[in-house]
Amino acid sequence: MTLLPLSDDAFLFPGAVNSLVFANGSGGALLVDTGLDESHARKLLRAVQDAGLTPSAVLNTHAHADHHGGNAFLLKRFPELVISAPPLEAAIIRHPELEPLYLYGALPPKALQNKFLLAPSSPARPLEAGTQTLGGVTLDLLNVPGHAVQMFAVRRGGLLYAADALFGPDTLTKHPLTFCAESTQQKASAASLLGLEGVQLTVPGHGDATADLAGLVQLNLESLERTTQSVLHAVQAGAASTDTLLARVCADLGVTMTNPGAVLLNRSVVSAHLKELLEAGRVEMVTENNLLVFRAASA
Ligand SMILES: [Zn+2]
Repeated sequence: MTLLPLSDDAFLFPGAVNSLVFANGSGGALLVDTGLDESHARKLLRAVQDAGLTPSAVLNTHAHADHHGGNAFLLKRFPELVISAPPLEAAIIRHPELEPLYLYGALPPKALQNKFLLAPSSPARPLEAGTQTLGGVTLDLLNVPGHAVQMFAVRRGGLLYAADALFGPDTLTKHPLTFCAESTQQKASAASLLGLEGVQLTVPGHGDATADLAGLVQLNLESLERTTQSVLHAVQAGAASTDTLLARVCADLGVTMTNPGAVLLNRSVVSAHLKELLEAGRVEMVTENNLLVFRAASA
C-alpha cells in the first residue's frame, strides 16, 4: 500500500483508521494517528519509507486504541520518536488500562482486555491546541472534544484532518451509534468546523477524503441528532435502566451487538446522550427498586 498524495507535502495512508503523513521538507515526516495495531503501523511505516521519508514525530488526535495502537511498533523501530496528544488523552495513552476501566466501570475482566479497547502503553506527552511544530512540521491543532473527552483536528493550509469529529458517510451508515463521550460537545465540535475558511479537502478519521466539508458536517449532525431523538423516544417508551434503553435504541437504529466490548461502547453512547437530555430537562434520573432509572421529565 502506498501513500496517497493530498497536497505537495501531505499524504493519506488509508485504512480502517486513516493515518496522515506530513513531510517536513528535509526527509522527515510527522505521522498523525498510528492505527489499531502493529499490522497497521508496519504497513504505514513501509509506505512512509517507500516515499523516501523517515518518521520525525507522532501526533495522536485522541486516546482511542484504534488511533494510537501502532505507537508501540514505531517506538521499537525509532525509540527517540516524540509522541504528542491532548493532555488528558496523553494520560490515557501512557496508562491505556484507563480505557477499559472507564468503559467497564471497574478493572476489566480478561475478555475486555483486547486490542480494540486496550492498546500497548506509550510515553505520550501532553500538548495544547494552537499552532505547533512537531517533527519539523508546523500545523494548527483545533480542539474538537465530544467524541473523546479531548481531541484535536489538524489543519494545514487547505487540508483538514477532522479525526473522529467527523465520520465518513459509509461509517455513519454502518455504525449509526457513533462513539461519544459528550454529545453536546460532539455536535458543537462538528458544527465549529463549518466556520473554517479555505478548507479544500477534509479527511475524517474513518472514511474517504471529501471536498464537501459542509455536506459531511451536515450528515454527522443529522446522525448525532437521530441518536439523541432515539434515546429520548426510548425513555418515553417507559422508565428504564441504561441497558434496557440501549436495547431499545439498538432495535430502533438497526444495530446488532455481538460482543461485550460493543455493548460497553454503545452503552457509553446512550449515557452521553442521556446526559444531554438530563441537562435539557427532557429526562430525569432516579433510583427505583435498586436500579438507576431514566424517565421522561414531568412537564
Ligand atoms: Zn475515536
